[in-house]
Amino acid sequence: MFDTSLIEISRNSYLNNINFIKSQLKKKVKFSSVVKGNAYGHGINVFVPLAEECGVNHFSVFNAKEALQVDRVASNGSEIMIMGMIDNPELEWAIINKIEFYVFELDRLTNALNAAARLNIKARIHIEIETGMNRTGFKDDELPKVFKLLQRNREHFILEGLCTHFAGAESIANYVRIKSQIKKYNSIYKLFVKEDLKPKRRHAACSAASITYPETQMDMVRIGILQYGFWPSKETFIYYASKNVDKSDPLKRIISWKSKIMSIKEVNTGEFVGYGTSYLADANMKIATVPVGYSQGFSRSLSNQGRALIGGNRVAVIGRVNMNLMMVDISNLPNVKKGDEVVLIGDQDELTISVASFADFSNQLNYELLTRLPEDIPRIQVE
Ligand SMILES: *Cc1c(COP(=O)(O)O)cnc(C)c1O
Repeated sequence: MFDTSLIEISRNSYLNNINFIKSQLKKKVKFSSVVKGNAYGHGINVFVPLAEECGVNHFSVFNAKEALQVDRVASNGSEIMIMGMIDNPELEWAIINKIEFYVFELDRLTNALNAAARLNIKARIHIEIETGMNRTGFKDDELPKVFKLLQRNREHFILEGLCTHFAGAESIANYVRIKSQIKKYNSIYKLFVKEDLKPKRRHAACSAASITYPETQMDMVRIGILQYGFWPSKETFIYYASKNVDKSDPLKRIISWKSKIMSIKEVNTGEFVGYGTSYLADANMKIATVPVGYSQGFSRSLSNQGRALIGGNRVAVIGRVNMNLMMVDISNLPNVKKGDEVVLIGDQDELTISVASFADFSNQLNYELLTRLPEDIPRIQVE
């Protein structure tokens, strides 16, 4: 094997999560699988075909590059939607390939309509409106121009959606702000209908909003983190649990990250391990080197902090995490040998290293840790 570690994606766990999410959605709500950030680190190339096998046929990405990646591996029937960046020169490509994209400024709107007119193919657009996040989205005072442009160019677009995004639905601290965003969305939706610009789908909800504010499910939800088996925040899980008799976590993590022991050596009492003096052996010990370091996404802040699983035991990272390797303490594991499996995230026998524990240790959110897993670590599908 040329690679020093491997990421496994579990089909059964994904099916479990999809079934749970569907149980939380109202009838006829479309499920869009958010696969930006290389499918939250799970790997677009493996994840998208798996999702399709499990019945998913709508994918949301951040930019044109990701749309291209999804388009290469998705089957023809699937819809692909860009929620963020696409440059004007790529608009023709998107229109020809039936890629849907958000429009949240007049420059993109005019360029998209012009490109569609040149090609004589309708652009599939989602108009994003500003409701209070102040990131992207048309503001109220731009709407008259938007209406006019759309009304004059009806033959050049399909209004696939009218959308917005909430500014932190995973925290109750933002309750008032989210409620006002919902209200604002609904009143602008009515304006669009009045202008004879009824969108095919209304959509606003991410994972957290879908659970905490079910009224935001509308016609479609854009679900990222939940489908990968993580709660957007502890609060969202507590909210869910408070509404249900069964308090157990219905989600299953679908990712595992594994490496193997590169070599083993003994260290005498009183010697330091690794760079500098951050770890002192206070007894004779045995250490294993693992060929994964911060350049592979194992954060340097896990130095002397991180945990891994070897031979069904939890072992501690000792000393600094290096660029390409780390050391772990295997003093109490006499049978461990070179080449044995090392689990960095996931299960081994009865034990688990969860991304959450990992993320707490390294002060990263689940989202950040996952998306920092380098693209070149191979991903494979497992049962
Ligand atoms: C990332 C993103 C989502 C999905 O968010 P999750 O919290 O992972 O469900 C939905 N909508 C937009 C616009 C996003 O950028």
